[in-house]
Amino acid sequence: MSDIRDVIIIGSGPAGLTAAIYTARANMGPLVIEGEPSSTSDQPGGQLMLTTEVENFPGFPEGIMGPELMMHFRAQASRFGAEFITQKATKVDFNQQPFTVEVGDVTYRSHTVIISTGAQSLMLGLPNEDRLIGHGLSTCATCDGFFFKDQEIAVVGGGDSAVEEATFLTRFASKVYLVHRRDELRASKIMQERALNNPKIEILWNKKVTEIQGDEKLSGVLLEDTVSGEENVLPITGLFIAIGHQPNTSLFADQLDLKDNGYLVTEPDSSKTQIPGVFACGDVQDDYYRQAITAAGSGCMAAIDAERWLEENHA
Ligand code: NAP
Repeated sequence: MSDIRDVIIIGSGPAGLTAAIYTARANMGPLVIEGEPSSTSDQPGGQLMLTTEVENFPGFPEGIMGPELMMHFRAQASRFGAEFITQKATKVDFNQQPFTVEVGDVTYRSHTVIISTGAQSLMLGLPNEDRLIGHGLSTCATCDGFFFKDQEIAVVGGGDSAVEEATFLTRFASKVYLVHRRDELRASKIMQERALNNPKIEILWNKKVTEIQGDEKLSGVLLEDTVSGEENVLPITGLFIAIGHQPNTSLFADQLDLKDNGYLVTEPDSSKTQIPGVFACGDVQDDYYRQAITAAGSGCMAAIDAERWLEENHA
C-alpha cells in the first residue's frame, strides 16, 4: 500500500538526523518526527540545542555552536528529501507490520522505525524544583546564563556537564560555586583543570543541596555536608542542575526491552532491538559514550540496518 513508508525516524538529534541523511540518500524517503519546540526534554535537534560551543565534533577545527551544528544536520537531511513533522510521537505499535506511529490524531505506518529520542536532564527531586524552574533554577546554562550577569550562582554535579556549565557560566556570573557531593570530580582531567584554574569558580566539596529556597525567585540553597552532616545556607540567585540524564523511553517501555537504568536494549554492535524492523540509536540506547559523534555514528548504523532489513523483507 502506498501510504506505508519505508522508514519513520522518531527523534532529531545527531543520531536521528544522521539516520535521516543516510536513509534519504538510500531512497527510503524518511519521515522524521522531530519533537516539539516548546519542550525541554525532546526538543527538535536534541541536547545539542541546549549546548554552547562544541569543540570535539570532527570537521570543525574552530568549534561550532550546538544549535548551529544541528541546523547543518537538518539541512543536509532535508536536501536529500527527508520530511519533518515538528511534533512529538504520542503512541507506537510495534506488534504487527506495518508498524504504526501516532502523532496526535494522525497515524503513520511504516515497515521500519528508527528510535532516536535521546535523553533528558535529571533533577534533584526537591519540592521547590517545579515552582522555581525558570525563576532562578535552570538545567541549561546556554539558555539561561545571560540572566545571571554579575550574580553569584551555583552548579550542582561533578561530571563533565557540571564542570563545563560552571566554566561557561563564569562568562556572566561574578562567582560560580560548584556543589559536589564527593571529594573528587567525575569530570575529565582537562575539564577539571579548566575549572580549578578559573578564579571565579569555587568548588564546594562533600556538599549536597537539601533545599531550594525562594518565594517567587530562587534566593539560596540549603547545603548539607555529606561527611559531617553540618548545614549551611548558600545565598545565590541562580542554581543550575547538571547531574546527568534520563533516556526518553517511556513511549516504548511496554513494547521494547529496557536496561535497568531505562535505556533501550540493542544487540551488541548493532542498532537492532528485539523487534525485527525496529532499530534504536543515539543516547536513547547509549548510557556509556553519550557523545554527539557516537550518536551520529550509531544513527548511520541504524540507517544501514533498516535499509538491509527492508531489502531482505520488503524488496
Ligand atoms: P555524569 O557523568 O553521570 O555525572 C553526573 C554527576 O552528577 C556526577 O558527578 C554525580 O555525582 C552527580 N550527581 C548525580 N546525581 C546526583 C544527585 N542526586 N545529587 C547530586 N549530585 C548528583 O553526567 P554528565 O556530567 O551529564 O555527563 C554525561 C556524559 O556526557 C559523560 O559521559 C560525559 O563525559 C559526557 N559529557 C561530555 C562533555 C564534553 O566532552 N564536552 C560535556 C558534557 C557531558 P557522583 O560523581 O558522586 O556520581
